[in-house]
Amino acid sequence: MVNYLPMFVEKISYAVVAVVAGTMSLTVLLSCSGSVANTDFIGSSCSIASDQKGSFLGKVEMLPLEVVVDSSFSASQIEAVNTAAHKWNAAGKKFLGHPLFKTRTDVVPNKVRSVNPRDCSSEIGSSSEYYIVMETSLSRWKALGFNDHIPGATVRCERKKILIHQAVFINPEIIEDAQFMSVALHELGHSLGLDHSCADGDGGPDYVSCSKISRGHPYREAIMFPSLKIRSLKLETQTLVGIGDVSEIKENIRQNDYDRAECLYGSDPELSRLAQ
Ligand SMILES: [Zn+2]
Repeated sequence: MVNYLPMFVEKISYAVVAVVAGTMSLTVLLSCSGSVANTDFIGSSCSIASDQKGSFLGKVEMLPLEVVVDSSFSASQIEAVNTAAHKWNAAGKKFLGHPLFKTRTDVVPNKVRSVNPRDCSSEIGSSSEYYIVMETSLSRWKALGFNDHIPGATVRCERKKILIHQAVFINPEIIEDAQFMSVALHELGHSLGLDHSCADGDGGPDYVSCSKISRGHPYREAIMFPSLKIRSLKLETQTLVGIGDVSEIKENIRQNDYDRAECLYGSDPELSRLAQ
């Protein structure tokens, strides 16, 4: 067995935004450790805007990606994950002629629930198959590095831009049931190799900062925007409960999500061949 230290570990989380009396109170987003601009992965025919050229992670080398959905989720949550996968698949069929995901429901091994997913040698999946884990234990959630403003996260181990393994964690107790599919769609996007539609923090010339994105902008509307507005935080104190607003729901892949996924895979002749 070959042991190695990961070159970097990506941790991408979906944060929720609490609304306080009509004013958005942005949570501090967990930043990626060692994020790199994966411009290598963008095909020459890709027409993505220059301020999103750096918004890619390591791509998946074999599609469809096998997704094992934790059987601990409720039937409606499992259905929501499957529906989310079908929506991404519809996009894949358009630009690649093939689905992007193949899902099945199964028991998640204890190992996957207990090890550190950022350890690239933990063997909790592979580059072609990963688990979507339900985690409602707040102590485990915190041990994973997530706070109670983070309903879902994709942890990826990459080595020199090559995906080693990944795992998705969703804590359905943090969001309203109606938002579950929005989170699933977002995390599935990460698992394909899409980073957020805009960067946390200052950003840069090839990856625009979310602070510069106005309301209604395609990057703001994208499934892959890093936060989701909520009416209330189920696990937070009452002081964070919003007044008179609604929880944001994004149940369809937006044009910007589609365009970026197409950038990663649409012009890859090798993938098209493998996907036959
Ligand atoms: Zn995210």
